[in-house]
Amino acid sequence: MPELPEVETIRRSLAPHLPEDVIAAVPLLDPHAVAEPSPEAIVGIAPGKRVTGIHRRAKYLVIALEAHNLVVHLRMSGRLRLDRPVEDMRYLRAQWNFASGRVLCFYDVRRFGRIWLVDDDRLAALFAPLGPEPFDPALTVAALQDRLARRTAPLKSLLLDQRIIAGLGNIYVDEILFASNLHPRRPAGSLAEAEVARLLDATRSILQAAIANGGTTFDAVYRDAEGRPGRYRSHLSVYGRAEEPCLTCGAPIQRIVVAQRGTHFCARCQS
Ligand SMILES: [Zn+2]
Repeated sequence: MPELPEVETIRRSLAPHLPEDVIAAVPLLDPHAVAEPSPEAIVGIAPGKRVTGIHRRAKYLVIALEAHNLVVHLRMSGRLRLDRPVEDMRYLRAQWNFASGRVLCFYDVRRFGRIWLVDDDRLAALFAPLGPEPFDPALTVAALQDRLARRTAPLKSLLLDQRIIAGLGNIYVDEILFASNLHPRRPAGSLAEAEVARLLDATRSILQAAIANGGTTFDAVYRDAEGRPGRYRSHLSVYGRAEEPCLTCGAPIQRIVVAQRGTHFCARCQS
């Protein structure tokens, strides 16, 4: 499922194209994909609205319109694609036509993706439960240690929890924990300050490298808005490498289940 680097890559692929363009029509919208307010409201409100910016918060993509925000969460298998609807039309869930002739298509095989059209106040309320962005300068070592303090849940679960840090998912949490030499089942509240510092450093450097590589395309689902796959897969150290040798010590990478998620780690490097 797309995580912060993939959504950020999609944002960057849309940013040169959509701002200043005006939505002309919403010719197709699967009611099942609409979180709020209603399919009728989106089809009615969006036309005539100019795009003022493309933003990202956590794994949400925000297309800012005048006085409204079109918000998309891709969840498991959603894709946003500019221009010709070249993909399998059976999975086309929404289409926005722009005055310039551009078309933005939302495809979703598994139909978990959701769309909102909300004003600024409602957007703030929607995002209020989210924790800080990983690159937020206010997220210092002390601030992160505070967020993990007294928590007995495994690190893996807490890093997946969008209320602790926003934007991480299964792939990058496994990679971050490997880079930090921390066991995924380690109780989150037990980390010393130096370990939290390592964790925060690894979070930022891995996300930065993943964004620089256009994200990770693992099962051919993820593409940016112009159809390009991510190139970070070849940089993965543990995710998807069960039984393969650890790149640091040669021990076989293990796959266990933590927080109901397949979790990849090196038992020797992350003891
Ligand atoms: Zn190792």
